[in-house]
Amino acid sequence: MIYKRSSALFKAAQQVIPGGVNSPVRAFTAVGGDPIFVEKAKGAYLYDADGNKLIDYINSWGPMILGHAYEPVVKAVVDKAKKGTSFGMPTEIETEIASLAVSMVPNIDKIRFVNSGTEACMSAVRLARGFTGKDKIIKFAGCYHGHSDSFLIQAGSGAVTFGTPNSPGVTQGTAKDTLLANYNDLNHVADLISENKGEIACIILEPVAGNMGCIPPSEGFLEGLRNLCNENDILLIFDEVMTGFRLAKGGVQERYGVDADIVTFGKVIGGGLPVGAFAARAEIMSYLAPEGPVYQAGTLSGNPLAMAAGLAMLTELNSKPEVFTSLEKKTEYLHNGIAEQLTQAEVTHTINRVGSMISVHFSETPVTDFKTAALANNDTFKKFFHGLLNEGIYIAPSAFETWFLTDALTYEDLDATIEACGKVAKTL
Ligand SMILES: *Cc1c(COP(=O)(O)O)cnc(C)c1O
Repeated sequence: MIYKRSSALFKAAQQVIPGGVNSPVRAFTAVGGDPIFVEKAKGAYLYDADGNKLIDYINSWGPMILGHAYEPVVKAVVDKAKKGTSFGMPTEIETEIASLAVSMVPNIDKIRFVNSGTEACMSAVRLARGFTGKDKIIKFAGCYHGHSDSFLIQAGSGAVTFGTPNSPGVTQGTAKDTLLANYNDLNHVADLISENKGEIACIILEPVAGNMGCIPPSEGFLEGLRNLCNENDILLIFDEVMTGFRLAKGGVQERYGVDADIVTFGKVIGGGLPVGAFAARAEIMSYLAPEGPVYQAGTLSGNPLAMAAGLAMLTELNSKPEVFTSLEKKTEYLHNGIAEQLTQAEVTHTINRVGSMISVHFSETPVTDFKTAALANNDTFKKFFHGLLNEGIYIAPSAFETWFLTDALTYEDLDATIEACGKVAKTL
């Protein structure tokens, strides 16, 4: 494949945009080479600036769960745009999407819309602190909750890919209120709680981790956190920005049957437009301004374009719950196919999968937390990435990222991907 025009566009971008990209994970820093510039996309395929067609396994990092340029979403956005794109005043569609989201997700009464997953998580933590009157939070190494200061402590994929899990610019004052635990390690969490008795407002986590590759919660982990929170007056925040409306209609809460106190959303909930949200039972949400004292606001929050895209997406998922089963079957098929090819070529690997999230780790050990994720062979991943790219398969340009399947993928696409993996495996 030829990437002449992409490379030229990247050079031009670097002159006026730091690193040539508006989000670091888009650069190919971890795998080498120039990033690919996209011209357009439809269904499961990307078409780049050089005219190459690629099968897409990132899907805008998750939102495009039904495929790119999905007709009902596009129509909803175009229709709305003609009537004005933002008013800074309430609109009826905000209530429509809020009601639908609340009906789909267990355990939430009210939801507030924002413009990104980062905003959702940052606001959720502020709300938890306001509600409990406590300052400290517990987060897990390798979990990503957006780029706000409190979270840039061992922050998973993006930050880890660039060797800066702890970003300069985050003050020690902020960092000291974020306690770091190991994923899937309940004892560690219990120790932190007893060392900081009465000071912890919330525990925030990706209940199925996706930012250190895909890492499922171990048996009893989520239940154990729920119990620790109950016993110590701590709020449990599920960051479902990645998993919400992807792993089930009701996300991880539904799939694993564990209740969170506050849930955050992003990605799928916006149908590809900039949307985030956080939700909880009424008692907690009533602490938010203008009802309560915890301040949170946004000029473009809940704007009609974003709400139209999100509402169209959630309406589709709500009326076609078979999508989740279909996605799961496709991902399992891909999992088995890739595993067979790698095994045949005698490439050491571990594949993790939950629902339509999957990650391939070139590792001898099971990958259960950040430490074990970091043990994988990055040189092998680089070769795998570029090999697949050459075969027209686009996966995330980092070993710490999950692949997100779209239901637009056909079994022919999956077979082509498996075949490409077989071909590349022989070169590893
Ligand atoms: C993507 C992501 C975020 C941040 O969302 P943005 O919209 O990029 O700000 C937060 N948490 C998780 C789990 C994510 O995957």
